[in-house]
Amino acid sequence: MIWDSILGWFSTDMGIDLGTATTLVCVQGRGIVLNEPSVVAVKKGTNRVLLDGQAVGHEAKAMLGKTPGSIQAIRPLKDGVIADFEVTEAMLRYFISKVHKRSWGYKPRVVIAIPSGITTVEKRAVRNSAERAGARKVYLIEEPRAAGIGVGLPVEEPTASMVLDIGGGTTEVAVLSLGDIVTSISIRVAGDEMDEAITNHMKRTYNLLIGEQTAERIKIEIGSAYALDPELTMEVRGRDLIAGLPRRAVVNSEEIREALREPIDAIMQAVVQTLEQTSPELAADLVNNGMVLCGGGALLRGLDRVIAEETGLPTRIADDPISAVALGTSLFLERLDFWKRYLEGDDETT
Ligand code: ADP
Ligand code: MG
Repeated sequence: MIWDSILGWFSTDMGIDLGTATTLVCVQGRGIVLNEPSVVAVKKGTNRVLLDGQAVGHEAKAMLGKTPGSIQAIRPLKDGVIADFEVTEAMLRYFISKVHKRSWGYKPRVVIAIPSGITTVEKRAVRNSAERAGARKVYLIEEPRAAGIGVGLPVEEPTASMVLDIGGGTTEVAVLSLGDIVTSISIRVAGDEMDEAITNHMKRTYNLLIGEQTAERIKIEIGSAYALDPELTMEVRGRDLIAGLPRRAVVNSEEIREALREPIDAIMQAVVQTLEQTSPELAADLVNNGMVLCGGGALLRGLDRVIAEETGLPTRIADDPISAVALGTSLFLERLDFWKRYLEGDDETT
């Protein structure tokens, strides 16, 4: 134990939330030390990361839409699966080395939260990447578990804890008890699908072509799941589909809410399905315990209210929904000896 804490002093043990939209790194005692988009710039048509791994995260996202034709910005985890192993590895390596600068120090232990729908092959790829990036030991933990720990739910107790994590590419719903995931559903509908729904609405209703970033801005500025008081409006700029010229339009929060109905219904369905699969005893716990929302999507106006009304369960948004999973990985690391038993034969050996 003492030896471990001395080693710990020389290394930078870290917890990583490898998200589809954002990667966060949390270091014990230092909190969140890195928060960057999960984006990598590559030479078009290849997997070659630009500038020796320099074009990752913020730098890569800043290139979006401003690159010459030969460069492409990739989100390697976009749909919650690893679309591109090589690019994912380059990204992970870059983030780890950015946090663990002291190459002379002892190698860090790394806990990585991964989407629960990830395959064994993908798990191994993540593990190998982290090892190649300089990790002494790699622990993989399912994202909903990290989320539950991160938002401070009593996940190791014999009572139901429920988390709904709405990210960029995936939404994960899970009920946890006694340290494990009892039921969980992962769907590929989350923030990105909301952006797409807004893009389609602008095309259909205004003949206006807007970019990904603009769609996201509309969602964040005036998007909602529940009626607002007052409703909001926003000026949107894009390119006219027919004339081909730049143009503006004014949109309001009611039409955007209507446009968001489909992805929100899909998320609602996942919540209901998870509840239907939950055993009666645990379901009974949830009447009081309710559920906690996290992930960037939890910030959509009124979403908590819609969920509370439709399920009848107490629903609250995590204090820091975007950092919840990363904090969870760090807390996991802090009590590694306790949590290790849950990894046995599963993540430890894959
Ligand atoms: P991941 O865990 O998949 O990396 P995050 O938890 O970082 O994803 O959430 C990213 C998603 O949250 C994006 O789709 C982003 O647009 C969305 N988001 C961030 N802030 C808000 C907000 N205020 N309202 C609605 N959506 C938001
Ligand atoms: Mg996430």
